[in-house]
Amino acid sequence: MARRFEEPRLVVASHNDGKVREIRDLLSPLGRAVVSAKELDLPEPEESGDTFVANALLKARAAEAASGLAALADDSGIEVAALNGDPGIYTARWAGPDRDFMVAMSRVNEAMGDTADRRANFTAVLALCWPDGHCETFEGKVFGTLVWPTRGDQGFGFDPMFVPDGYDITFAEMDPALKHTISHRAVAFQKLLDACFGGPA
Ligand code: IMP
Repeated sequence: MARRFEEPRLVVASHNDGKVREIRDLLSPLGRAVVSAKELDLPEPEESGDTFVANALLKARAAEAASGLAALADDSGIEVAALNGDPGIYTARWAGPDRDFMVAMSRVNEAMGDTADRRANFTAVLALCWPDGHCETFEGKVFGTLVWPTRGDQGFGFDPMFVPDGYDITFAEMDPALKHTISHRAVAFQKLLDACFGGPA
C-alpha cells in the first residue's frame, strides 16, 4: 500500500520550465501549495542513475533534503525503437549544454536515417518523497511515431516530433489540455493520484 499524501506543500524538483508548467497543471486540482526547485534556487543534482526510476528518486531526494519539504520529481525521456531505445535516460543530454531541443530532435532524425521504423515512446517516472525520506515511484508511457520536419509550437522538448498513436497531430500541435490526458506524465500522474490521493482529483 502506498502512503497517503497529506502534506500541505510540495516542491517540484525540476529546473525545466516546460515540465514544471505541466506538473503544476496536473497538481492544480489537489489544492496544495506548489513551488519549484528553480524558484527556491535549489542546486540541480547530477543525474547519475542508470534508470528513469533511479534518476527520479535522486532528484526528489535532493530537493526534499535541501528544502525540508515533500518533493515530486519527474525523470523522463524518449525511447526510439530504431535506435534500440536511445536517447532514453540521456534525452536531455542530447540537447547539449544549451538545452536546444531543435538540436536534439535533428540528432535523433539523423541517427534514424531513412529507416521505415518510426516508432517511439515517451516514458516518465514520478518520484514523490516525504520529508521523513519515504518515497513512492510511478511510471507512465505513451506510444507513437516520429515525424520530420517538426510540427507545432506548444509543449516542450520532443513534442514537435511526436505523434501519439490514435492521432494525426504532434504533441506540439495539440491543445495542452488534451496532452495532459494522454501523455506518459499523465499516465504516471493518474497512478500517483490513485495510490497517494485516493483516486482521481
Ligand atoms: P530529464 O527528465 O530532466 O532528464 O529530461 C527529460 C527530457 O525528455 C526533457 O528535457 C525532454 O526533452 C524530454 N521529454 C520528457 N517529457 C517530454 C514531453 O512530455 N514532451 C517532450 N519532451 C519530453
